Amino acid sequence: MTEKPRLILVLGDQLTDTLAGLRQADAARDIVVMAEVMAESTAVPHHPQKIALVLAAMRKFARHLSQQGYTVAYSRLDDPQTGLSLAAEILRRAAEYGSDRLIVTSPGDWRLLQALEEIPLNASFLPDDRFLCQAEAFAAWATDRKQLRMEWFYRDMRRRTGLLMDGDQPVGGQWNFDPENRKAAKPDLLRPKPLRFAPDAETEAVLDMVEERFPSHFGKLRPFHWPTDRTEALLALDHFIAHSLPRFGDEQDAMLRDDPFLSHSLLSPCINLGLLSPREVCQRAEAEYHAGRAPLNAVEGFIRQIIGWREYMRGIWALNGPDYPSLNALNHKAKLPAVYWGGKTRMACMKACVAQTRDLAYAHHIQRLMITGNFALLAGIEPVFVHEWYLAVYIDAFEWVEAPNTIGMSQFACGGQLGSKPYVSSGAYIDRMSDYCSSCAYKVKDRTGPDACPFNLLYWHFLDRHRARFAKNPRMAQMYRTWDKMAEAHRDTVLREADALLSALHGGAPI
Ligand SMILES: Cc1cc2nc3c(=O)[nH]c(=O)nc-3n(C[C@H](O)[C@H](O)[C@H](O)COP(=O)(O)OP(=O)(O)OC[C@H]3O[C@@H](n4cnc5c(N)ncnc54)[C@H](O)[C@@H]3O)c2cc1C
Ligand code: SF4
Repeated sequence: MTEKPRLILVLGDQLTDTLAGLRQADAARDIVVMAEVMAESTAVPHHPQKIALVLAAMRKFARHLSQQGYTVAYSRLDDPQTGLSLAAEILRRAAEYGSDRLIVTSPGDWRLLQALEEIPLNASFLPDDRFLCQAEAFAAWATDRKQLRMEWFYRDMRRRTGLLMDGDQPVGGQWNFDPENRKAAKPDLLRPKPLRFAPDAETEAVLDMVEERFPSHFGKLRPFHWPTDRTEALLALDHFIAHSLPRFGDEQDAMLRDDPFLSHSLLSPCINLGLLSPREVCQRAEAEYHAGRAPLNAVEGFIRQIIGWREYMRGIWALNGPDYPSLNALNHKAKLPAVYWGGKTRMACMKACVAQTRDLAYAHHIQRLMITGNFALLAGIEPVFVHEWYLAVYIDAFEWVEAPNTIGMSQFACGGQLGSKPYVSSGAYIDRMSDYCSSCAYKVKDRTGPDACPFNLLYWHFLDRHRARFAKNPRMAQMYRTWDKMAEAHRDTVLREADALLSALHGGAPI
């Protein structure tokens, strides 16, 4: 008697030939299951470009697997037979192929993991070993540490991977070149642009379907320029390495109104979907340094984002478990204001970042952290709403990476697990790092009054309302000393005007 086939589940962000589940598959017997289901596209109102990217990339990967000899049971969103949820679709395939065994490479989303665990089949869950640091290894690193400082994790990862190492010492004698990477940037017509891709016929068909089915989701679908298969992803990587990597470090924290990409790589969707591996991306960057084509501050800065921040965030997500998005250490309770969905605002920085997000499904790290994230934190928005927004609107957003960045890093909702100090700033930082303020209706130098920059008012309001938590923090003591030295009448005015601003914002008025 021939053995029953096993179902090998491949999710939309698991598009990697060497995926743990595929390595277990017997192509002659097993069935690879891939499914476009409504529940996954609408769990939060994902940006139309993100839905299109995932579905187009899934279709191309399914074809690639078929060409490798796998039998792929692929369910399309526009097929009336396709079930609404992944669980329903898996059970339908199990009945169709007479299978009672399911092999899953563990997903990076607790809700989905729980749903898959409840499927009444004999299921095996394999660790997703595309990460360079497995969840158990991270948990072991985290054990007995008072603080989970990324920098110490990163140094371990450098030693473990051998990237930019000279024996047991860092190449260049320094682990971190961040102090050199905080420069502002100027508009530069000659700055290289990232490689963008015209959609082929298969992607166009997906775009048409997304346009028809998700008309109410926030975000522009077209123009759509993202790489949708490994060949395109490799071209995007080649282009970044040759043109933008050398400037990556210098411009990493800068923000410009008319240049949303600066020298960023735009590779996060390719890496997160599995079209590129984190290791190969880092090795390519390292080779540029050794060939003398990219400076060490750029290459080290780039590699740190991947083997440092990216792996660290995955570890933090795995360590915290399913309740992570509902953490709220600062007890913030407000709803997300309309400005996040394109509502009117006089704030040039918020307007630019939200418009860019709507048009491109992309904002770089400092825009996410120090504009939209900073504003949500200062304005006291409940972190879970902020989390749902970031998960919905960015092309690269998957829970395992989005939640720790939002809940942990940006909203300080886990009370300092990722760092002792919240990422908050007044308008001065934004003015230093961007060209937003010069075109803003508010005045960045005004601390009070009708035109005072909202970041200025809300920054001091935040410090004042969280004094009990932060005043004794040595990294924040200087800020409290500055606040306390201000005249009492001035402090009263700041707090009164900030209260009025928050009431207007939370009452739905545009600010
Ligand atoms: C509130 C908030 C939410 C975020 N949500 C996401 C998300 O949903 N998905 C996501 O991939 N990144 C997220 N990030 C991290 C970071 O903003 C993006 O990885 C980066 O902007 C992607 O653009 P890029 O590829 O051009 O990055 P580059 O600036 O070119 O950086 C190179 C690579 O480093 C990695 N990287 C850099 N910073 C981080 C980080 N903090 N965490 C994880 N990886 C990092 C990415 O793989 C990125 O492609 C978030 C950051 C914040 C502050
Ligand atoms: S003045 Fe304030 S609100 Fe306006 S762009 Fe600058 S930081 Fe943003």
